[in-house]
Amino acid sequence: MTNIRTNVLIYTEDIHAHGDPSHRAAYPISLHDGIASAFPEDRYNVRAAEFGNIRESITPDTLAETDVLFWWGHDHHADVPDDISKLIITEVQKGMGFVGLHSAHLSKPLTGLLGSSGTLSWRMSDKERIWTTAPFHPISQGIPEYFDLNDEEVYAEPFDIPTPEDTVFIGWFGGGEVFRAGVTYRRGYGKVFYFQPGHESFPTFYNPTIQQILRNAADWAKPTLRRNGLHCPNVKPM
Ligand code: ZN
Repeated sequence: MTNIRTNVLIYTEDIHAHGDPSHRAAYPISLHDGIASAFPEDRYNVRAAEFGNIRESITPDTLAETDVLFWWGHDHHADVPDDISKLIITEVQKGMGFVGLHSAHLSKPLTGLLGSSGTLSWRMSDKERIWTTAPFHPISQGIPEYFDLNDEEVYAEPFDIPTPEDTVFIGWFGGGEVFRAGVTYRRGYGKVFYFQPGHESFPTFYNPTIQQILRNAADWAKPTLRRNGLHCPNVKPM
């Protein structure tokens, strides 16, 4: 029987190595565990990649077996090797899905895919209300008109991204800031989703509504058609 589960690869940084108690309180096991807990084993095959083993865990072979790569990075954006970022961008152009989470707005793969700086305004922290602005979109199915997060890092406009294909969610914060919290793109044959919630000191990824969005994002972003390579074939006239 063929494996019909969606292959999800989750990249995180080893934030517990930093010893910050607020991180351990929000994610007693690991940030990976928080994100991975959104994906039941009967429908998803989840693997882990970390900054500490990035050369072994993100390779042409592991990406070829990946339907959707989730990327959570913060402290080590600049340390991600350029060749690995290029490998990811190429694989997206061939059809792999890419989901950038929270501080991935500055990551090499996402900024490389979008061709913009990914800069935004930020502060710590406040209540967030997330509005569903594209109720027709596959990523918002089962998500209410709006939902609240009691604590989340404030990310505010202006957010330097290209005009999205769809703005699925908009966040509003207690200080009056607004932010395009969930945006989609297509790059080559691949689909890209950026989603703003998920600061490491708040247990956002254990929130059931957030987990539904992560599953929806994986289901939407998995390849519909995947190219073997990126070529410009020389063709004969018909
Ligand atoms: Zn953060």
